[in-house]
Amino acid sequence: MQRPTYKAKAYSAASAKSALASTTIPRREPTDHDVQIEILFCGICHSDFHSVRDEWSDFMATTYPIVPGHEIVGRVTEVGSAVKKFKPGDLAAVGCMVDSDRTCPHCKAGLEQFCPNFVLTYNGPDKHLGGVTYGGYSDSIVVDEEFVLRVPTNLNLAGAAPLLCAGITTYSPMHHWNVGKGKKVGVVGLGGLGHMAVKFGHALGAHVVVFTTSPNKKEDALRLGADEVVVSRNADEMKKHNASFDFILDAVSADHDLNSYLRLLGRDGNITLVGAPPKPLAIAAFNLIMGRHSLSGSPIGGIAETQEMLEFCGKHNITADVEVIPIQKVNEAYDRLSKSDVKYRFSIDMASLKA
Ligand SMILES: [Zn+2]
Ligand SMILES: [Zn+2]
Repeated sequence: MQRPTYKAKAYSAASAKSALASTTIPRREPTDHDVQIEILFCGICHSDFHSVRDEWSDFMATTYPIVPGHEIVGRVTEVGSAVKKFKPGDLAAVGCMVDSDRTCPHCKAGLEQFCPNFVLTYNGPDKHLGGVTYGGYSDSIVVDEEFVLRVPTNLNLAGAAPLLCAGITTYSPMHHWNVGKGKKVGVVGLGGLGHMAVKFGHALGAHVVVFTTSPNKKEDALRLGADEVVVSRNADEMKKHNASFDFILDAVSADHDLNSYLRLLGRDGNITLVGAPPKPLAIAAFNLIMGRHSLSGSPIGGIAETQEMLEFCGKHNITADVEVIPIQKVNEAYDRLSKSDVKYRFSIDMASLKA
């Protein structure tokens, strides 16, 4: 039997070379465990851009049409009969995942981001309707309550949307590597992810040092909460910080020399990559061996940790710095994003979709 659906307004791309354009998509009518959300804001993540252009075809080919968007904040409009955590009128959020198998060791540990059967918010296999899932560039979404998050009411909603990907992607590794008081923390790359890492590092009480290639970002880094700013092209400036960091978050997705940062780690220091440069990185083994340094990577975060991150943001009034745009400007925003011309995230005001 075909599941009942309704038509939702959305923006989709028909191919890797097409612009995003207005369309309608089917959404399932809420089942017993579902929460229906009117989407108020959706952040624009670099993943949206890569997926629309099918640039990650090697490991995650895009099925067209694609409706991107996994930084979703909105208001609950309807809930299924078995839903306990939400009621109509509540604020709600959805991040990068809308489901998982819930039975594997990762799911049981609350680490759904490692589940081999997780369902991504867009371009994932839609268990209910077949085909692929459609993301947040839409006026509404229907998601199982286990994958819906609560949003602290004090947060600016446009700025809260990017917390669902940029926020958790930086919070999770900082949490895992015990960033906090008395720790010296570096952030490489001051973009959508990097600017969140600076805010979190500061709120967690760490000494935050931002590395940048452009000296003109200094003032902004300090405003965001950095204690120091180092111009990474200046070898003397870099040398002053030799062997002193507990943790460095590397959010750069372009080619860069990791060895110059590995040398800055203190004993047992770690660098975690959250950016994904296209080419393999060259590492001199001694930069890991001396000082027992480690190099790791980290993807998003689990549902419980994402909720914890949102509560932390509520308590410290942390949101992303956003430029709010109407959905009609999304293609222009993609062009600007490809030139890193945004401080520091675009957030789509979904009320514009009704126009
Ligand atoms: Zn993302
Ligand atoms: Zn699982």
